[in-house]
Amino acid sequence: MLPFSLPPSPVFPVLDALARERILILDGAMGTQIQQLGLGEEDYAGDCACRHHSDHPQKGNNDLLILTQPQAIEEIHFRYAMAGADIVETNTFSATTIAQADYGMESAVRDLNVEGARIVRRALDRATAIDGKPRFVAGAVGPTNRTASISPDVNDPGFRAVTFDDLRTAYSQQVRGLIEGGADLILIETIFDTLNAKAAIFACFEAFAEAGRRLPLMISGTITDASGRTLSGQTPTAFWHSVRHARPFTVGLNCALGAAAMRPHLAELAGVSDSFTCAYPNAGLPNAFGQYDEGPEDTAAQVARFAREGLVNIVGGCCGTTPDHIRAIADAVAGLAPRAVK
Ligand SMILES: [Zn+2]
Repeated sequence: MLPFSLPPSPVFPVLDALARERILILDGAMGTQIQQLGLGEEDYAGDCACRHHSDHPQKGNNDLLILTQPQAIEEIHFRYAMAGADIVETNTFSATTIAQADYGMESAVRDLNVEGARIVRRALDRATAIDGKPRFVAGAVGPTNRTASISPDVNDPGFRAVTFDDLRTAYSQQVRGLIEGGADLILIETIFDTLNAKAAIFACFEAFAEAGRRLPLMISGTITDASGRTLSGQTPTAFWHSVRHARPFTVGLNCALGAAAMRPHLAELAGVSDSFTCAYPNAGLPNAFGQYDEGPEDTAAQVARFAREGLVNIVGGCCGTTPDHIRAIADAVAGLAPRAVK
């Protein structure tokens, strides 16, 4: 059940035309911005426990802040929009029943995704009211904390903590919520296991069929080691051929590596893909304390190099990046031509 007979959403041709015109800007990390708020358990849980009861502590459940600290989350999205982001991601990386099970918050999943998209829309509309620039809501779909291809138990290599159908069911729920909340596109990101991503793609196709329209799909893998492979063992080329059937609006890479280490893998992907490419690296590699030291100008200079080499159509930042990184990246690639795509 491929969705290509469905009409594209009205946003699809608009985004496509923009991406041919110039390099588009994606936002940066949520985690570092949320950390700066210094929130405690009370702030995380809010009065949400009334509507969605859980016995688990909620500190660290960043997605839940959509419901308990909506103002703060909207401000972060707004800052990224004003820093130059054309596309801003929802704070829903872990808003699936599978990932929320860690917090006993499975019942909140629908609300998280619907509200998560609405909050970004509100922030972007505020920014657009100021400068008139169109902006787009990307519904963020994370990998979950389980992998369908690899056993977590070294003594039982055949064991799987999650199946394709478990993932498909969870992702369906998430994507339906994101579309209901007004997501313009769906971004399946930080893919370390392509089988998980395939379940998410399948769920998107089902949700598009229900909605009667096809949204642009962004697909972003994560290279986790120096050999240039994903955790499930794929090279960038293999990764592309595994997701090509989805005819993604973009294929790309994010997270795990800083821009310098990402460059050869991105070049390989850009060499084989006939979709637009998207890259949003971390702010360098984490230091001994797990923090990211690479400053905005350093990250921006390397991302501008991607652009000068004709590797990218959309760029942004992952872990450790801030609105200042996104502003510097937007400035650095302004006027550089996007990668040519047929
Ligand atoms: Zn990251």
